[in-house]
Amino acid sequence: MLHKWEGIVLKARAYGESNKIVTLMTREAGKVACMARGAKKPTSRLAGVTQPFMHGSFLVQRTSGMGTLQQGEHFNSMRHIQTDIVATAYASYIVEIVDRLVEEGRPEPYAFEILIQALNAIEEGYDPEAITLFVDWKMLPYAGIQPILHACAGCGAVDGEFAFSFAQGGFICHRCFHLDPYIIRLSPTQLKLIRMFYTVPIEQVGKLELKPQTKQFIKKIVTTIYEEQTGIRLKSRSFIEQLERTPLLQREKKEDE
Ligand SMILES: [Zn+2]
Repeated sequence: MLHKWEGIVLKARAYGESNKIVTLMTREAGKVACMARGAKKPTSRLAGVTQPFMHGSFLVQRTSGMGTLQQGEHFNSMRHIQTDIVATAYASYIVEIVDRLVEEGRPEPYAFEILIQALNAIEEGYDPEAITLFVDWKMLPYAGIQPILHACAGCGAVDGEFAFSFAQGGFICHRCFHLDPYIIRLSPTQLKLIRMFYTVPIEQVGKLELKPQTKQFIKKIVTTIYEEQTGIRLKSRSFIEQLERTPLLQREKKEDE
């Protein structure tokens, strides 16, 4: 059967001398792996469209098992993401987290939407670090985690001072601080921001101007949730951390802003 899917290339690995196995996140069928014959050859018409981050339309022949990519046509080749090292680093993290958390074999329109919005936002020049935080929070349910952020996880109160509790799985109020000796106290702004990352649409997140310390703080919380509660540690996270430690790149980044 021949399928036409809108998709994004999550990854492509070499298979044999000239083929690639391409993992696509599609709008219609969710995550799909398919064989792209000859795609490793630069002259192949499949060479370009099977590059990571490519957004396009893919014609896949599949009866059972792995399909074969027949044709691809790109809508957006994500040029900025392909050429800017900082954008590449964050986009690599985003495709990796989607690949790790989404299972093959069923449509996942919500995850597809998060992915396409995030890559488009980075491509358009929004702060890739804030966009990545947005993806981290939004993808938590796919890791089986639904943080309680609308009220206190201990007693349901919506007023008072708040902290984040990994043990309670979300915010807890000052009346419940005794439930967890390892709480992280939150200012009202931090509370509001975390809630935003989890609930608001991406356009609003992209427009936020966040201080580096604020992003670091929120990132620390969400990274700890992933690492300690799901055991997931992504390879591309180390690349981002390396970039953050490189003073030259930091400087260039600031001058661009
Ligand atoms: Zn409480």
